[in-house]
Amino acid sequence: MAELFYDDDADLSVIQQRKVAVVGYGSQGHAHALNLRDSGVDVRVGLREGSASREKAENEGLRVLSVADAVKEADVVVILAPDQVQRHIYREEIAPNLQDGAALVFGHGFNIRFGYIEPAAGHDVVMVAPKGPGHLVRREYADGRGVPVIVAVETDASGKAWDLALSYAKAIGGLRAAGIKTTFTEETETDLFGEQAVLCGGVSQLIQYGFETLTEAGYQPEVAYFEVLHELKLIVDLIYEGGITKQRWSVSDTAEYGDYVSGPRVIDARVKENMKAVLGDIQSGAFAERFINDQDAGAPEFKELREKGQNHPIEPVGRELRKLFAWVKPSDSDYVEGSAA
Ligand code: NDP
Ligand code: MG
Ligand code: MG
Repeated sequence: MAELFYDDDADLSVIQQRKVAVVGYGSQGHAHALNLRDSGVDVRVGLREGSASREKAENEGLRVLSVADAVKEADVVVILAPDQVQRHIYREEIAPNLQDGAALVFGHGFNIRFGYIEPAAGHDVVMVAPKGPGHLVRREYADGRGVPVIVAVETDASGKAWDLALSYAKAIGGLRAAGIKTTFTEETETDLFGEQAVLCGGVSQLIQYGFETLTEAGYQPEVAYFEVLHELKLIVDLIYEGGITKQRWSVSDTAEYGDYVSGPRVIDARVKENMKAVLGDIQSGAFAERFINDQDAGAPEFKELREKGQNHPIEPVGRELRKLFAWVKPSDSDYVEGSAA
């Protein structure tokens, strides 16, 4: 059984006695900075020159500095810029300004696991990774709840890195739900696998193939959209509440029987072999290298694939249909660029 942590296992005063710099004010950065502040922590935000995020942070009453100045003031530096730019920021602005003994906090293990950031000895290196999008991390905290976190210590230079990590996890509200003990390696590899094989890659491809199969057979695109995309949320909600068993209990016997006999025909044993190959590329670093090399070249492959996805025939059908739903607010149906799992 995994080791779990709750509010009672952590001492909030540990992080309240530190000076924290949050680098980046995007999905996770804004949530961590605001939750820390509301938990009584001394926090400043580090952003680059001309940053589009500056105004948002200042409107919340947060102090915004350059990354270098924020790091100079702080004895805890939280790195919440996008994974693909973290090593540049680290090399150019964080490392040269890092106080002796300052701790580094990550929200995902990518750069440590694959060696893109190699902190000098003497710094605690910890991870507090919420298992949910940043906007939910903020909303849950504001509502008195929290999003579960996974917590890891890569380097315990001070001998007190776990106390710090748990105190930080408590301050952002994570331990109101639960913290799970992990390692940078386990978090990074399972996070990448989950989003690639199941949550983002697997589900998106499954929806697109389902839509293509129905529309190519002559069925109306609007009807196909409802069957293979819209209803997915209702099914996932049931799975989230009570596992696959609750979903099968709630649907008709016809649907349940079809699940048993056709699920393994669609997602057959070859899919599991494909998943193992994807996991292999994550473990070997091949995926990380491909992603980082593409990003460093200006992201040509990434941009091409993004455009191809946006042009899939299911997208315009969904855009038109969602306008007709009384219960979807325009802000929910807007495409939000740059959000990540
Ligand atoms: P975002 O893409 O939302 O981060 C954008 C922020 O980073 C903006 O404030 C942006 O500022 C700033 N930024 C971008 N480039 C630079 C730069 N060169 N120098 C300084 N600041 C810069 O990131 P996420 O919140 O999605 O991810 C942050 C970390 O959290 C990652 O490690 C990710 O894996 C992890 N994570 C993310 C989750 C999520 O929900 N998105 C879930 C769990 C973990 P500007 O306005 O200047 O562009
Ligand atoms: Mg049906
Ligand atoms: Mg992820």
